[in-house]
Amino acid sequence: MAGGTAAGGQLTTTTDVENYPGFPTGVGGAELMENMRAQSVRFGTEVITETVTRVDLSSRPFKIWKEYADGPEQEAAHTADALIIATGANARRLDLPGEEKYWQNGISACAVCDGAVPIFRNKPLFVIGGGDSAAEEAIFLTKYGSKVTVLVRKDKLRASKTMANRLLSNAKVEVKFNTVALEVLGEPEPMGLMKRLKIKNVVTGLEEVVDADGLFYAVGHDPATALVKGQLETDDEGYVVTKPGTSYTSVPGVFAAGDVQDKRYRQAITSAGSGCIAALEAEKFIAESEGGDEPPLVTTSIEQSSTAKEEGKAPEYEYSTNPLL
Ligand SMILES: Cc1cc2nc3c(=O)[nH]c(=O)nc-3n(C[C@H](O)[C@H](O)[C@H](O)COP(=O)(O)OP(=O)(O)OC[C@H]3O[C@@H](n4cnc5c(N)ncnc54)[C@H](O)[C@@H]3O)c2cc1C
Repeated sequence: MAGGTAAGGQLTTTTDVENYPGFPTGVGGAELMENMRAQSVRFGTEVITETVTRVDLSSRPFKIWKEYADGPEQEAAHTADALIIATGANARRLDLPGEEKYWQNGISACAVCDGAVPIFRNKPLFVIGGGDSAAEEAIFLTKYGSKVTVLVRKDKLRASKTMANRLLSNAKVEVKFNTVALEVLGEPEPMGLMKRLKIKNVVTGLEEVVDADGLFYAVGHDPATALVKGQLETDDEGYVVTKPGTSYTSVPGVFAAGDVQDKRYRQAITSAGSGCIAALEAEKFIAESEGGDEPPLVTTSIEQSSTAKEEGKAPEYEYSTNPLL
């Protein structure tokens, strides 16, 4: 386990993956990852299953220390001419009573991944969260559930005006403000599904138990970037900043792929696609370095313009010093 996730990544924690291309009847998450590993080993990849505790990106070759072999005097376990950071992101949980029991048995943190599975068809579904993600997830779920109720802890939504309007005007959505979930209830183990949710209005104190076959968390993700904090440019939420459409980070020779740099899509297929981009760019970087085109090691200053920030516009970043761009 590293950062709470086993080797093989987040998909090893789920059962069937229904939306990965090439598998018309779905594929087990662990099986898909085992196959990806075997395929890459077949092409000569050496897989070292260790937890990385520290990296030094200040000069090349980059240095990598691993668990149980780290310390002020300890030599780095590995060095690398190019490095791809693909440490993922973990969905935040609420630690509700019943959460552990019904996680993936009704509770999910990804409507796009799980919304279409039969247990949610024409059933009452709940979403927790008040931001854009919660609004997007709830609207997506209206395609499958009989009704979607959004629980918002505060008395207003954090979502953008457009998303909030789309949510509030959807006939299949009810937004319950000032409301929190207290407990998930359902069928007994093993493999029992969630069936009800205990909720509470935090203003009136009223508690009730409601029918609920699905509960989707949209309370944020934590990117696994502690390792590179202060060494790579990260955004307000801790995601590694990459130049859009590429895997380039603020340090030449260091690339990022997957959920660690993608707070919008966070899908297996988008992660795999960005992993492919990173691999090609890392290979090109090494080939160019070996060809004598030694790029200077300079960090990029990636700043969101303050006006854009104030106006809540999508950030525009300046990338200037990476010689590969
Ligand atoms: C329960 C669940 C179900 C999902 N279902 C679907 C689905 O049906 N369809 C879909 O498209 N997407 C699904 N997703 C999302 C999908 O799993 C992610 O988008 C995808 O796995 C991201 O891949 P990644 O390689 O970027 O990161 P991850 O899968 O998070 O992998 C990161 C890896 O890095 C390792 N790591 C982290 N820090 C360190 C360190 N310091 N040292 C060594 N290793 C480290 C972790 O152990 C992990 O193995 C699901 C996610 C979850 C949690």
